[in-house]
Amino acid sequence: MEEKDCIFCKIIRKEIPATHIYEDEHVIAFLDIKPNNLGHSLVVPKEHFPNIYTTPDEVLSRLIAATKKVAIAVKKGVAADGINITNNNEPDAGQLVFHTHIHVIPRYSTDGFRHWPAKTTFTQEQFKETAEKIREELGN
Ligand code: 5GP
Ligand code: ZN
Repeated sequence: MEEKDCIFCKIIRKEIPATHIYEDEHVIAFLDIKPNNLGHSLVVPKEHFPNIYTTPDEVLSRLIAATKKVAIAVKKGVAADGINITNNNEPDAGQLVFHTHIHVIPRYSTDGFRHWPAKTTFTQEQFKETAEKIREELGN
């Protein structure tokens, strides 16, 4: 499955250039053109699925296994102090390219990035109700 106008499908088909770092039968990885730090990479299944909700489990299994390899290589390659692995789904969560992918972002003790702060105002009742709703969705 591929999409004619998808930028990552074009990279996979080698119709447009990318700085490739990894390829196997099912997955490719290349450097992000707008990196948070040098070495910021994107790990991408060769099949087109718009987001994690629609990506089959076997595709995700291969994707996360390749992500682990890439993460270890990026960490060593750019001598990072740590690695963030992220995946954005839907525009309000920051997704810009609607072809499932995982960000591998090298981090340094000195890079100044701070994760968004925790919200501390929720009550125990809200935690309980929320967990109930999610468990219901999971059939758990
Ligand atoms: P998202 O926000 O969808 O999780 O991440 C998409 C990422 O793809 C962004 O970080 C963006 O910089 C990167 N990106 C978008 N277009 C291209 C491209 O043509 N080539 C490469 N290498 N990265 C791209
Ligand atoms: Zn695509």
